[in-house]
Amino acid sequence: MALASKQAPALPVSLRLTNTLTRRTEPFTPIKDGHVSIYCCGVTVYDLCHLGHARSYIAWDVLRRYLIWRGYTVTFVQNFTDIDDKILKRAAEKKCSMEQISEQNIKAFHQDMDALGILRPDRMPRATQCLDGIRTLIGELEASGAAYSIDGDVYFAVMKHHGYGKLSGRDLKEQQQNADGRVAEAEEARKQHSFDFALWKGAKTGEPSFPSPWGAGRPGWHIECSAMVREELGETIDIHLGGADLIFPHHENEIAQSESATGKQLARYWLHNGMVNVGGQKMSKSLGNFTTISSMPWASSSSRMRSALAKSRAALASWRAAMAS
Ligand SMILES: [Zn+2]
Repeated sequence: MALASKQAPALPVSLRLTNTLTRRTEPFTPIKDGHVSIYCCGVTVYDLCHLGHARSYIAWDVLRRYLIWRGYTVTFVQNFTDIDDKILKRAAEKKCSMEQISEQNIKAFHQDMDALGILRPDRMPRATQCLDGIRTLIGELEASGAAYSIDGDVYFAVMKHHGYGKLSGRDLKEQQQNADGRVAEAEEARKQHSFDFALWKGAKTGEPSFPSPWGAGRPGWHIECSAMVREELGETIDIHLGGADLIFPHHENEIAQSESATGKQLARYWLHNGMVNVGGQKMSKSLGNFTTISSMPWASSSSRMRSALAKSRAALASWRAAMAS
């Protein structure tokens, strides 16, 4: 159920949001008076959450609480990616199923977020529970010519989508650089263009798979968020949230998929949080340079965690000011 404030303070000050899409700080006005729909990209559940996640979800929790306090009825949806190469790899290492790895880490996620005092999202869809919506969306994209299938895989045809790159501001040359080396050579050869990305991946031996009109397989990462946004919140939402590392390719691809299918703007405000860095590199599960939330001695005190993050931010701001003067 969406949370609503008991009081609706009529404040003269408007909320201004820095919108990645327009590269401007803009006054916030919702699509529907008094209501705000928010989708936040969640975690891929193959490991524990770290301080980078804490920073991200605390920031969005502050925004959500502020909107509620201002009197809006806020519907907040955040997904779990529970089908992914990394989960499969972890399951093979631990000699257990993909579902067991996902369940363990979803449970740990809730414990960490509860310890931080973060409000639970209104709904938390999982990729494995949204397969109908995912298959429907891919089917629509294929039928309209925005996507094509080959040998059990389905790819989004980037060159056919007008406006690709509008969120990240990347030109096609930069996209090519990012694409290089990211995709296996065999897959690269099957695609019509190297920028194209997978919507559905044909089943590989020994991996879990799901039925589809293109044969057994599993969805690509980007399509799940497009399908979940539409299923949970509709074709156009107020605010889409995520880490700055998701701007490209994840959010760029989400926009391409959703807007190709519906012909409507996916989200009016795209907000991105900065990264927690360690030695100049972002803290991430894939780099292995992370400190988990649950390992912090003060993890049981959410107010101390928030205050530690606020102090770090203030220290950084004063350092930047000193450098600029
Ligand atoms: Zn996402």
